[in-house]
Amino acid sequence: MISVDDALDRIFTKIPTPLAETVPLARAHRRVLLKPLLARRTQPPFDASAMDGYAVRAEEIVPGKPVFLAGTSQAGQRFTGMMQSGECVRVFTGAPMPIGADAVIIQENAKADGNKVVFETQSTPGQFVRKKGYDFVEGTELLQPGAGLTPAMLNLAASANYPQVEVARRPKIAILSTGDELVAPGSELGADQIVASNAFGLTPLLSAYADKIVDLGIIRDDKPALEKAILGAFDWGAEVLITSGGASVGERDYVRDALRDLGVNLDFWKIAMRPGKPLMFGTRGRRLVFGLPGNPISAFVTATVLVRPALRHMTGHTDPFWPFMGVPLVADLPRNGERRHFVRGKLSRNEIGFLEVMPIAETDSGHSSSLAEADALIIQPEDSPGIQAGEIVEIIPLNFLA
Ligand code: AMP
Ligand code: MG
Repeated sequence: MISVDDALDRIFTKIPTPLAETVPLARAHRRVLLKPLLARRTQPPFDASAMDGYAVRAEEIVPGKPVFLAGTSQAGQRFTGMMQSGECVRVFTGAPMPIGADAVIIQENAKADGNKVVFETQSTPGQFVRKKGYDFVEGTELLQPGAGLTPAMLNLAASANYPQVEVARRPKIAILSTGDELVAPGSELGADQIVASNAFGLTPLLSAYADKIVDLGIIRDDKPALEKAILGAFDWGAEVLITSGGASVGERDYVRDALRDLGVNLDFWKIAMRPGKPLMFGTRGRRLVFGLPGNPISAFVTATVLVRPALRHMTGHTDPFWPFMGVPLVADLPRNGERRHFVRGKLSRNEIGFLEVMPIAETDSGHSSSLAEADALIIQPEDSPGIQAGEIVEIIPLNFLA
């Protein structure tokens, strides 16, 4: 058996460096920059008013003493000419400051009467003025590579004058399910048949990291049929192939042989984790292959713990394990053996509204309804002597983030 961390290390070292593609900003949410994003312009491009009010020379303003209103500066249409001593200019938020003015008095502190304005307050130079380049200057590094582009980052990229960005390509992913007993959901079930469910969890779990993701359906436990399906996936252009089932070394488990005979460089690991355990991982040029166990809980958990971080790594994310978080445990966890345990957990809020996690008592890998009930996997380390209620545990949230 190898540890979860060893398996991840071995997978990460085989992952090809991501290639770049250019995408319009409107489709760049959660994509990852491969290079720093430099500002293409200066923001604001001029000294700008931060408020609706009057541009003034601060030192001249005396409360109660009228000042001559010389004109208006609006966003998109500036006051041309020079503001003279004894004058003020009506300004609106975002408008260029008139030449000769050095501060803005907000309109709530001013009374206009025809072309005279009287102020109720004094001012200081620079007040309510955003200096040119206050936000960013052309050439500034605005965004670093490796983070998924958030809505606010996209907003920033647009204001820095990018209509599109260069991001890491995402792979084409193919999923196939193996097993003579399997039938599609909605079928008339024979006595010994089982509904193939794995692809329906894996597809949405991983789709954020896919350019395209296809479910190639159910393949019989038959080597030629498997080989044909695997070749079909490669022909389609799959850069990541995920199989479920037939991954042990039983008599009717052909996935390993089929992959090997098709030139996939393959490792078979028993990983010290539960649920989970057997996993195949291989490469064929730039392509990656994951052979997951057929058991639905094991397939889902190994995909969450190993495949998802691998895909994040492959798509340029510098944090493959995002999102992780630590929250207090609501009930004790008993001692753990040598395998890292991913315990199903239910998130809730304590009396003061903070997040906490309740372990779900059901830990059997044949129990799908408890996985559906879970909204986190609690990570209980190898050889843990038990964890007391109240201690902080690391969790993998399941359902509320890509
Ligand atoms: P295997 O890894 O092929 O030995 O399968 C282990 C268990 O998982 C068996 O009980 C299979 O019937 C079940 N199983 C395999 N593939 C799937 C699937 N796609 N959906 C649901 N159960 C599956
Ligand atoms: Mg099988």
